[in-house]
Amino acid sequence: MERTKFLLDETEMPKVWYNIQADLGQPLPPVIHPVTGKPVGPQDLAVLFPMELIKQEVTQERYVEIPEPVLDVYKLYRPSPLIRARRLEKMLDTPAQIYFKYEGVSPVGSHKLNTAIAQVYFNKLEGTRRITTETGAGQWGTALSFACNLFGIECKVYMVKISYEQKPYRRILMETYGARVVPSPSPDTQTGAATLAADPNCTGSLGLAISEAVEDAATHQPYTKYSLGSVLNHVLMHQTIIGLEAQKQFEKAGVEPDILIGCVGGGSNFGGFVLPFVRDKIVQKKNTRIIAVEPTAAPSMTRGAYAFDYGDTAKLAPIVKMYTLGATFIPPSIHAGGLRYHGMAPIISLLYNQGLIEAVAVPQNAIFEAGVQFARAEGIVPAPESAHAVRVAIDEALRCKERGEKRVIAFNLSGHGHFDLGGYDAYLQGKLADYEYPQEAIAQAMAQLPRVEL
Ligand SMILES: *Cc1c(COP(=O)(O)O)cnc(C)c1O
Repeated sequence: MERTKFLLDETEMPKVWYNIQADLGQPLPPVIHPVTGKPVGPQDLAVLFPMELIKQEVTQERYVEIPEPVLDVYKLYRPSPLIRARRLEKMLDTPAQIYFKYEGVSPVGSHKLNTAIAQVYFNKLEGTRRITTETGAGQWGTALSFACNLFGIECKVYMVKISYEQKPYRRILMETYGARVVPSPSPDTQTGAATLAADPNCTGSLGLAISEAVEDAATHQPYTKYSLGSVLNHVLMHQTIIGLEAQKQFEKAGVEPDILIGCVGGGSNFGGFVLPFVRDKIVQKKNTRIIAVEPTAAPSMTRGAYAFDYGDTAKLAPIVKMYTLGATFIPPSIHAGGLRYHGMAPIISLLYNQGLIEAVAVPQNAIFEAGVQFARAEGIVPAPESAHAVRVAIDEALRCKERGEKRVIAFNLSGHGHFDLGGYDAYLQGKLADYEYPQEAIAQAMAQLPRVEL
């Protein structure tokens, strides 16, 4: 019998996260304080994060143990399945094998819960009573709301105003889990109030919402902390449970992937899926192709600069070295809200700079075309973010067909698109815009990159 699903038993779930810092062969560039311009120390970050997460941010240990209470919550939905997309293979008439790791099985519908649970748990241990965050499309806010609720912590979410207005169901879901959600810009912070005073109709951006959440935490000490759903080293590390599970599943399937693909916003689902395989490239000199897929509307790796830049719009967050389009750049409002970030995780940026991974940018209509094709073959409607990975997986499978190559292609399906049907509707009705490369706005934002002298 031909197998379709490759499943792990709960007892086979990885008990550690993988930290690629141990295998990079060089330290990551320093993180810079936005005001002093000097490298930050643990004490600078202690306002925003619990000490355990600050330690995880810089640890050089190769593996970090997953605490029992975190594993316990993971068991609600992990291990997640690795599925062979046989019907998609047939539809494309390709000699390639296509696999996908499905993170949409989590109760909140995406991979984001993998780090939300861990972050809230470590906050709880250190006495945090309230956590602030930002959310774009609502995926991260939803995950953090549920995790906070499980551990009895108050949650305040600054939701980018355009999404707050256009995606009421995500807000309702967060409120169902017990969070307080406000549209950003909000009058609750100085940054928000100043923005509203200058432009009452401002629809917000992820960078601005981060500024508000950071300011809220910094001004409500000592029991309030801030939580970020992507970009940071510890977030990517928590997500490596995806790739560590996948490695065991490929072993069961008796195949090794030739091409790994994931979409990138801040880089966490991609990093979580591929980092254990990047280790094999570094240590065992394997030549797996690893491809990050970004939207043409926010092409930080394919069109940005590798430079020190602020993590947020108001320049309150630390400065890190990353591929960036400039912190003041506000990407066009594509439906893949989770990919509308001006920068990229420092770890992913370094790997790209070293040539260990590749990057491609794809436009909006092409990703919905792939999402619809995937839904019709496999039944799952991908989140618009995840559909970026589907697009490139299909393109690679078609290339295999042209060349008669039997490659093994695998991608991470980071979430389902049940709350994004508005985007599918617009696509199906032929009303979806493709954005030109926003050259001028990016040039303006890039001119404002901070000068960092080390
Ligand atoms: C948030 C999100 C992303 C983008 O964030 P990364 O940190 O790059 O993973 C991708 N897919 C889904 C489903 C998301 O919710």
